[in-house]
Amino acid sequence: MVLSNLSAGREVDTPVLIVGAGPAGLTASLLLSKYQIHHVVIEKYAGMAHTPRAHIINQRTVEILRDLGLEEPFRRIAMPWDLMRNTVFQTSLTGTELARRESWGTSPQRRGEYIAASPCQMANCGQHFLEPLLYQAAVASKYAEFLLNHEFVELSQSDDAICALVRERSHATSVLLRSKYLLGADGARSLVARQAGLNYEGEDGISASATIHFHADLSRYVAHRPGVLYWNLAPGAGGFRGLGTLICYQPWFDWAVAFSYRPEDQDGGDESKALTRLRAIIGDPEVDIEILNISKWTINRSVAEKYSLGRVLCMGDAVHRHPPFNGLGLNTSVADAYNLAWKLAMVLGGSADKTLLDTYNTERQPVGKQVVARANASIHDLEVVRHALGFEEDQIGEHAKSAVGRLFQPGPEGSARRDKLSAAVAGTDYQFNAHGVELGYRYNVGAIVNDLTIAEFADEYDEELYYRASTRPGCRLPHAWVQLDEQQVSTLDLGQGISFSLLSGVGGEPWREAARAATIASGVEINVYLIGAEDGPLDCYGDWRRLSGVSDSGCVLVRPDRHVAWRADSASIESCNALPDVVRTLVGVFL
Ligand SMILES: Cc1cc2nc3c(=O)[nH]c(=O)nc-3n(C[C@H](O)[C@H](O)[C@H](O)COP(=O)(O)OP(=O)(O)OC[C@H]3O[C@@H](n4cnc5c(N)ncnc54)[C@H](O)[C@@H]3O)c2cc1C
Repeated sequence: MVLSNLSAGREVDTPVLIVGAGPAGLTASLLLSKYQIHHVVIEKYAGMAHTPRAHIINQRTVEILRDLGLEEPFRRIAMPWDLMRNTVFQTSLTGTELARRESWGTSPQRRGEYIAASPCQMANCGQHFLEPLLYQAAVASKYAEFLLNHEFVELSQSDDAICALVRERSHATSVLLRSKYLLGADGARSLVARQAGLNYEGEDGISASATIHFHADLSRYVAHRPGVLYWNLAPGAGGFRGLGTLICYQPWFDWAVAFSYRPEDQDGGDESKALTRLRAIIGDPEVDIEILNISKWTINRSVAEKYSLGRVLCMGDAVHRHPPFNGLGLNTSVADAYNLAWKLAMVLGGSADKTLLDTYNTERQPVGKQVVARANASIHDLEVVRHALGFEEDQIGEHAKSAVGRLFQPGPEGSARRDKLSAAVAGTDYQFNAHGVELGYRYNVGAIVNDLTIAEFADEYDEELYYRASTRPGCRLPHAWVQLDEQQVSTLDLGQGISFSLLSGVGGEPWREAARAATIASGVEINVYLIGAEDGPLDCYGDWRRLSGVSDSGCVLVRPDRHVAWRADSASIESCNALPDVVRTLVGVFL
C-alpha cells in the first residue's frame, strides 16, 4: 500500500478506524464498544458540534439511544415531545399568525399511533447538546480511542487491510493508521467517500443557506403556542422561506434562524445583516439578542450509488445529502450506524462471513435514497403554502400584503383562499407528521430470509404518513409492552448485545432446541423468549400476540438492530429444522 507525499510518524494498528465524530461516527463508536470491538475515532476538530444544526430526534433514534443506555441522560437535556406541538406559519413573531399545524404526532388524531408504536417518544435536542452527550459516553469506553484534532488525509486499501494517513492539526505531525475496516462518517463533504471512489446520483449545492444561532428570551411570543419551527412568511420577503425559519433548541432562549440567500447578496455571513434579519423576524426592538455564530450550508439532493467499496464503509451525510426538512439527516445517520455496527462486530468476531457487510449497502442505500427524495419533496410542499397565501417570487410588498389581507375577508373569495391554505397546510404532514418515513422503512433485500407463505396486509395505506407494525422480514420489530422479572419492558428491549433473539409464544418450546442447533451450526448466539408462556415474559396487554403476525407457536427471529430477520408461522418440525440453515444464510457462514 503506497501513500503519497506525507511521511508517517507514529503508526497505530486497530480493527476499525472511524473518521468523523459527528452523530454517525459517535453512534458507531458507542455500538462497537457495546459489542466489545476495539476501534479508533479521529475527528478533525478539538471539540464536538459548535453549531446547533439537527434537533428533531425521532422515535427510532431514541430507541437506539435506549439500547445504548442513554435514553435517560438524553431526556434530561432534550425538550420534551409535548413542547414540539406547533408548527407556526406567521408574517413575523409579533406579526400575523397565518396557520398552525400540530406536528410530530402531537395532534389528538395521531398521538395514540405514535405512543403505540414505540417505547420512546420523539424529542427536540440540538446537535450541540446531543453530540457532547454521545462523546462523553463514547470516550469513556476502554474499547474506543479518540484522536481529536486529527484530520484524515489519505487512504489506501488492499485485500486484507486499509491504511489511512492522518494529520495531527496543531503540530502538523502525521499518524499512519492500519485497520481492517474504515468507516467514513466525515459528513457531507466526505473526503473518505471521494478517495474510496464512491459515485453519487443527484446534485449538490442547489441553493445557499445559512443558520444564525442566537440567544434571546422569546417566551412572551411562543410559550402559549409551543413548538420548534416558526416559519416567517413576510409579505414581499421573497424566497421559499421568506425571512427564514425560527428553530427552537431550548425553550425559549436558544434559537436559530435558517434561511436561503442568493450567493451574490453575501447575506450568509454578514453579522449586521443577520441582526437586521433577526429584528425583522422578532418584530420587537426591546428584545435583547446575542448572536453566537453564523454558519453556511447548501441544499443538496444526492445519494451514493453504493455506500461501501472494499474495506471502506461510509455512513451519514457522507452518503446521503438533503435539506433539513422532515428532520431526517441525523436520524438516518444514527440508523446507518445501528445497521452496520453489529454486522462489523460479527465479521470481526468470526461469527459471520465478510459478505454480511454487503447487506449494509443493499439495506441502507434505498433508505437513504427515499430520505433524500422525501426531504426535497418537502420543499415543494412549503411552496404550496406560499402560493395558497398568494405569495409569488419577486412580488412587491404591497401586492403580497393585500394577498394576505384577502385571507381575512368575508365572502366566497376569502373563503376559497382559506380553504386553499388549509389544504396546503395539511399537505405539510408529509414533512411534520410523516411517521411512516421515520419508523416504517423496511429492508426488502439484505440480511433477511423471506417466508413467502405468510400473507402481508392486502389493503393499501399511505406508507409515508403512517407506520404500520409488521413482523415481515426486514421490518423493524414491532413494539409491545411485556413484563419481564416484574419490570415492564418493550419487545425492543429483549435483545442482548450481539446475539439474535427469537420471540415465540405459548407452544413455542421446540424453538429452544432449534435455537441451540442453530447456534452450533452457525456460531451465532440466539436468546429465546416465549412471550405469554408460563415461564416467559408476560404479554401484559396481549399486544405481542396481536402484532406477532404468526400463530402462538410461531417465531420471529430478530437481529441485534431489532429488525426482523425471519419468521415462521408455527413450531412445525420443518420450520424448526429450517432455523440452522436460515441463520447460516443470514450471516453467510456455511461450516
Ligand atoms: C439547519 C439544519 C437543521 C437540521 N435539522 C435536522 C433535524 O432536525 N434532524 C435531523 O435528523 N437532521 C437535521 N439536520 C442534518 C444533520 O445535521 C446531519 O444530517 C448530521 O449532522 C449528519 O451527521 P454525520 O455524523 O453524518 O455528519 P456530520 O455531523 O457532518 O459529522 C462529520 C464529522 O466528521 C468530521 N470530519 C470531516 N472531515 C474530516 C476529516 N477529513 N478528518 C477527520 N474528521 C473529519 C467533522 O468535523 C464532523 O465532526 C439539520 C442540518 C442543518 C444544517
